[in-house]
Amino acid sequence: MASGQREALIEGWRENLARCLRCGLCREVCPAFRATASERFSPRGRLALLEASLEGEPPADEFGDAFLESLAYCLSCRACAERCPSGVAADVLVLAAREAGLCRGGLPFFKSWAYRLALGRPRLLAQLTRLLHLAQEFHVLPFALWFFGLPPRLALPHLEAEPFDAGREQYFTPAEGTEYLGQVTYFAGCGTTYLYPATARAVVDLLTRAGYLVFVPAARRCCGIPALANGDVELARELAARNVEALAGDEPIAVDCGSCGTMLTYYYNDVLEVPGAASFKDRVKDVTELLPADSIEPRAAGKITYHDPCHLARGLGVTAAPRALLNKVGELVELEAPGAVTCCGGAGAYGLTYDDVFAKIGGEKADAVAASGADVVATGCPACVLYINEALRRRGVKAEARHTAEVLRESAGQPDR
Ligand code: SF4
Ligand code: SF4
Repeated sequence: MASGQREALIEGWRENLARCLRCGLCREVCPAFRATASERFSPRGRLALLEASLEGEPPADEFGDAFLESLAYCLSCRACAERCPSGVAADVLVLAAREAGLCRGGLPFFKSWAYRLALGRPRLLAQLTRLLHLAQEFHVLPFALWFFGLPPRLALPHLEAEPFDAGREQYFTPAEGTEYLGQVTYFAGCGTTYLYPATARAVVDLLTRAGYLVFVPAARRCCGIPALANGDVELARELAARNVEALAGDEPIAVDCGSCGTMLTYYYNDVLEVPGAASFKDRVKDVTELLPADSIEPRAAGKITYHDPCHLARGLGVTAAPRALLNKVGELVELEAPGAVTCCGGAGAYGLTYDDVFAKIGGEKADAVAASGADVVATGCPACVLYINEALRRRGVKAEARHTAEVLRESAGQPDR
């Protein structure tokens, strides 16, 4: 990082830190604090450590292991920023501090290298998916995961042999509804493209049956949030630039993942200030926001509950649209008080690394599902689907997490195609 950039970064930190009242309201909503009961892993504690580090010069080189660990325990859920009465963006400070941590090699080398190698290369990710699919077929998945440096306990769904749009350069699906609603560009995220291609097919089906012409740009790349969350801002910017090019146009951009949506809007514009991304704030929509109510046939498919993904609720502000549609296909029961968005403990690859936090938070989520009596947990994020299913499995709860798009399509009796 150039010294001018570092000074600007530190100045931004000081402005944010000066606003902190030390009231601790952010602690109540922080999942890492709830799981550890340690001030060091609370937003206020992280700010205190950051402030202490600023007392030495040059600050970015002063991070101790305790501070790096405190930073690593943040799930980037944004609950603290939403709760703070003083407008302190503790989550953004954590991301900035992680970036500075890179100055002295704060990221594990393999993780940093793997992200750089894979995130911008869909063909490589497709090959990895095919290999993991074969490993599943031959019952050697834990060995394959270990070989690729992934945690062997990773509970993957049953992988399909081919990712969602592998090998397709142009992917237009014509509208089928009685009324033509225009074109939508579908930004299929990495989670759906590689892990849950049936979800991506469900999104395309729902949109085309509603009356949209759906375009899936093959030139899209990972939105970059895994890189940003791990402090590699340079890689996040590179991926953002690729996506700005791939998503050029005026039509709405449908997303199937709250984290992709928040990255394309809030992080591209407000945090990274990516040139050309300004229109994304108006164009990016969760798929449930684009579906007219009458495109979903009413049915009584049993008890369904809904989990608000942190980034979908806090980043895109989407909480009502999925509930309104799900209410048409089953009896919707709430997990928490409406508006009380609680993280599932997954947060991308976080849940794999910090099992202590995931076990506590995911366990609470599984208990809430059991208490609701629901058979299905619908949610708008493939990572939440993965982690909630893992939490349900560990607690022995007989319910299944599915992406909202799959629940809506299956409830309407529409076959996967
Ligand atoms: S970050 Fe905000 S909520 Fe947290 S202690 Fe500071 S002022 Fe209070
Ligand atoms: S973003 Fe979430 S996990 Fe991180 S400090 Fe804020 S509340 Fe805690």
